[in-house]
Amino acid sequence: MHCIFCKQKSDQSKSVEHVIPESLGNKTIILSPGIVCDECNNYFAVKVEKPLLEQLYFQHVRFNNFIPSKKKKIPKIKGVMGGEVKLERKLDGSSHIIIEDEQIAEKISKGIINSMIVIKLDQPESENRMLSRFLAKAALETLCLQTGGDSSLISEIVNSTELDPIRNYARYGIGGFWNYHQRKLYDESDRFVNPIHAKEPYEILHELDCIWLAKEKLYFVLMLMGIEYVIDFDGPDISSYISWLEKNDNMAPMELFDDRKVIKGDPNNNWKMRYDNLD
Ligand SMILES: [Zn+2]
Repeated sequence: MHCIFCKQKSDQSKSVEHVIPESLGNKTIILSPGIVCDECNNYFAVKVEKPLLEQLYFQHVRFNNFIPSKKKKIPKIKGVMGGEVKLERKLDGSSHIIIEDEQIAEKISKGIINSMIVIKLDQPESENRMLSRFLAKAALETLCLQTGGDSSLISEIVNSTELDPIRNYARYGIGGFWNYHQRKLYDESDRFVNPIHAKEPYEILHELDCIWLAKEKLYFVLMLMGIEYVIDFDGPDISSYISWLEKNDNMAPMELFDDRKVIKGDPNNNWKMRYDNLD
């Protein structure tokens, strides 16, 4: 058995690879040991996912959705009350404001300061190299998921020279900046209905797929907290996907395979509510 990233022998590897980090709430989308070797697994955790999850946007997403880290901690976020304060959330649902500056604490207790602001990003920072490399990693891993664990198909993925650029970009950062497409399709608090999945409205934390679109082009599509991210397996140029969107009324590729209905959409986005009148 050989690792899909470094191509080294990986029979001795023991770690399970999480396609989406556990700290984003994923416990089920995993690859068995050896598909990604221990060394590559550790590299992605430390050099790609950790810095990504420390970005402001992802800290807020985890805070807002009560998503703890592996160590069961929800990240604190910063607020401003006449100076910097921190907001803390516990898994029991309680929230606290941590004020380290005594002068600020005094002013709050006297009622001199009575408002707090929190800087919030609706989407991740743009031109985001960590995000781009994470997408490349998750793309190759999702391709493996789709083999259903077939070892000869996974060997083909290891040996494919066509996949070397995306592989080497994910693992070694080789090849400049790999462009991706990002757009907000629904709010992270939106709920969906589809009797196939559940009777009650539900939220979607993440979903992912490798999808063939026009002219036999393969894209990796990730939906994470209402934002769609797409990269092209063939290279860092994402313009063919943008053309596809233009030709298809900005529909979401994920929607091609699912008849869910959005029950609340953001009026400012270009999400086409295709199944709005289903029931
Ligand atoms: Zn490896």
